[in-house]
Amino acid sequence: MHALEQKILTEGIVLSDQVLKVDAFLNHQIDPKLMQQIGVEFAQRFKAAGISKIVTIEASGIAPAVMAGLELDVPVIFARKYQSLTLKDDLYRSKVFSFTKQTESTIAISKKHIAADDHVLIIDDFLANGHAALALVDLIQQAGATVCGIGIVIEKSFQSGRQLLDEKGFHVESLARVKSLTEGQVTFVREESN
Ligand code: 5GP
Repeated sequence: MHALEQKILTEGIVLSDQVLKVDAFLNHQIDPKLMQQIGVEFAQRFKAAGISKIVTIEASGIAPAVMAGLELDVPVIFARKYQSLTLKDDLYRSKVFSFTKQTESTIAISKKHIAADDHVLIIDDFLANGHAALALVDLIQQAGATVCGIGIVIEKSFQSGRQLLDEKGFHVESLARVKSLTEGQVTFVREESN
């Protein structure tokens, strides 16, 4: 997605050869127009999949997920990372190893928001090694629901997540595919064209 790649090149900060900071438009300050374009793009790529619900993870997945939900006209659920006094319902829980914090935590969604007949699109801001996406898959499968696709805003293709999700047979769509972050430079995967 050209507008997203341009934004990454102009406003992204390469923190190391493993980590990209995008808090100018996605992870802290949010660019609503770009999020809207992202929602349209996800909707375009998954519109044939019969999606009934979107599941993401707080906090940074929420903005792109809501925009995709608006376009696809379906509800959006975000998995909670923190205990909350208001989250007292029966919960599906899964453990996830955080790439950015390097710690394990538990994420949860309320059983009342997801049913066995749901066809779910997972959306997240980044794909690194695939732990967050697979924890969301686990929550959805505990409900007996179907994972129809995984939409990622920024995939770091040099890490293991994409290959893992492909091998498990998921339909993955990433709007920007980062090939490398070496020497402070972002380079993108260029799809083969005939
Ligand atoms: P994974 O679970 O695929 O290893 O990592 C994905 C999760 O870690 C995402 O939910 C995202 O929040 C975070 N993450 C992974 N890589 C990066 C990165 O380079 N920059 C930022 N800001 N977050 C990342």
